[in-house]
Amino acid sequence: MIRADYAANPEQSLGRRYDEREPVYRTHFQRDRDRIIHSKAFRRLEYKTQVFVNHEGDLYRTRLTHSIEVAQIARAVARNMRLDEDLVEGIALAHDLGHTPFGHAGQDALNQCMKPFGGFEHNLQSLRVVDELEDVYADFDGLNLSFETREGVLKHCSLKHAADLGDVGERFIHKTQAGLEAQLANIADEIAYNNHDIDDGLRSGLITLAQLCEVPIFAQVYEETISQYSQLSGTRLTHEVLRRLINLMVIDLTDASTQAIETAKPQSIADVRQQAKPLMRYSDAMRQSKTQLKQFLRQNLYMHPKVYRMSWRASRIIEQLFDAYMNDRKLLPAEYQQALPSDQGSGEELHARRVSDYIAGMTDRYAMREYGDLFDLSKM
Ligand code: MG
Repeated sequence: MIRADYAANPEQSLGRRYDEREPVYRTHFQRDRDRIIHSKAFRRLEYKTQVFVNHEGDLYRTRLTHSIEVAQIARAVARNMRLDEDLVEGIALAHDLGHTPFGHAGQDALNQCMKPFGGFEHNLQSLRVVDELEDVYADFDGLNLSFETREGVLKHCSLKHAADLGDVGERFIHKTQAGLEAQLANIADEIAYNNHDIDDGLRSGLITLAQLCEVPIFAQVYEETISQYSQLSGTRLTHEVLRRLINLMVIDLTDASTQAIETAKPQSIADVRQQAKPLMRYSDAMRQSKTQLKQFLRQNLYMHPKVYRMSWRASRIIEQLFDAYMNDRKLLPAEYQQALPSDQGSGEELHARRVSDYIAGMTDRYAMREYGDLFDLSKM
């Protein structure tokens, strides 16, 4: 395959934070992807919630299976558009490494707890995992990934944090774009979760096919499927509808992005970065359909009373663990009792940052076990 001129090129990478020998028989982006797969944070994704708490059922998505689905979608588009598949795969596999236990409820609760200390953003935390927190290499902290992978992992961050991030923060200050692989991983994330949350939502019984047909694009694909397979039902029907829906989105994304590239004519990744808007995009019609689908999921699944109760309980666990570790650092494992050498701030801020590192790194079941350990005093 011939790489497109506007794709990221591992031989022209903007480099790593610490100099290293050139990889042998692998590109820089392959090495990044391989390091991500061998990281501790990657293995923990298996036991972290996407929407449903990890122990609720074996068929629901976890952050690990979600990340693999994102990588699958992103790689398919990357190959078709002659982008760097290894880079997009690495970004996809790493994009959720900074997520707390208990999905968005956990992230919101930890952000609340961290408000007085600069807040908690999961994208920033994903970057922190790959830049600082992984601690298995002899020569450096973190995974020492290439700039292009790191900018994709960061995805977004608030302006107030961008200034502290050095090279990967600059694009938020100068309002430039990330490379196409980073843009693609971001949209593949959305395609994956919108579709698998429908699947998990139906499996759980919290939403129904009839309800989903309120969403025009879903109704359209559902009608098509039923007219072809009138007898189909259950998980085969759901799967058949969802595979068509994913396909529609992927094809739309590929066509609309290819068209945007043909119009803008970027000759290099530098040209891609200078665009006013991301070149990876849906058509206007698909963007509208996607928004309707997201609204449906927010109202009917993420805010469902059962999910809401689970989220409420998760928030209490995070808050109480946070308070306990803030008030008594001896409850933390020894390595979290110390600030990182690279961190700056007052003593309390530094301590809070380590508490949030510890909590964010927990899996769902680890957090529940730790909560029981500290607060269920009947178990001695
Ligand atoms: Mg994700």
